[in-house]
Amino acid sequence: MAAPADPSLIACPCCDLLFDVSGMRHGEKASCSRCGDFLTRVRDDGFQRLQSYALSGLVCLMIGSAFPFLSFKSSGLENTMSLPQTVEQLYAQGRPDLAFLVAGFIIVIPATVLVLLLALSTCMIRQRFYDWMIPVTRLVFHMQNWAMVEVFFIGVMVSLVKIAHMATVVIGISFWGYGAFALCFVASVSNLDRLQYWNEIERLAGLKHAG
Ligand SMILES: [Zn+2]
Repeated sequence: MAAPADPSLIACPCCDLLFDVSGMRHGEKASCSRCGDFLTRVRDDGFQRLQSYALSGLVCLMIGSAFPFLSFKSSGLENTMSLPQTVEQLYAQGRPDLAFLVAGFIIVIPATVLVLLLALSTCMIRQRFYDWMIPVTRLVFHMQNWAMVEVFFIGVMVSLVKIAHMATVVIGISFWGYGAFALCFVASVSNLDRLQYWNEIERLAGLKHAG
């Protein structure tokens, strides 16, 4: 897809109406006047926010993977599981396909997205441009659709309500760690304003090639 000739113009993703957003200042948000769809939001500290959310998310994911996630107690038996163990269990029970999908959607893809966002936002803050930033940005925008962090966490909470009738459920440190990771992930992805992001990449690339 070719870059638009005028970076201040944006088309509404819903109804295609064109808008000039060049005069926007920090804190302002633009919505489509015809259908009300979100267009863009200008934040001077957007990349600092992105960097902080990505870094916090990665730390929370480490906490979420290292400690017990949930324990179940029923008729004298206790079973404690961490997040990586749930994947191992699926694999051990002869479902390598399911284990692969769960590990990918809830750990590997979101963690990769955050690592890449951390790298990209750090380059943006330092006002550096490297040629790998364009394909990596495109990859991040694709991959973020495949992360199912919040879906998984809501699913766990729904099943907890059901299991609570049959066994005593003890919530472990990792449960909260993963919950915080899910919040950081959603926050960093929703902070990623495509228009502002591409405009900044284009500006940095221009600076590099001019210099
Ligand atoms: Zn519209």
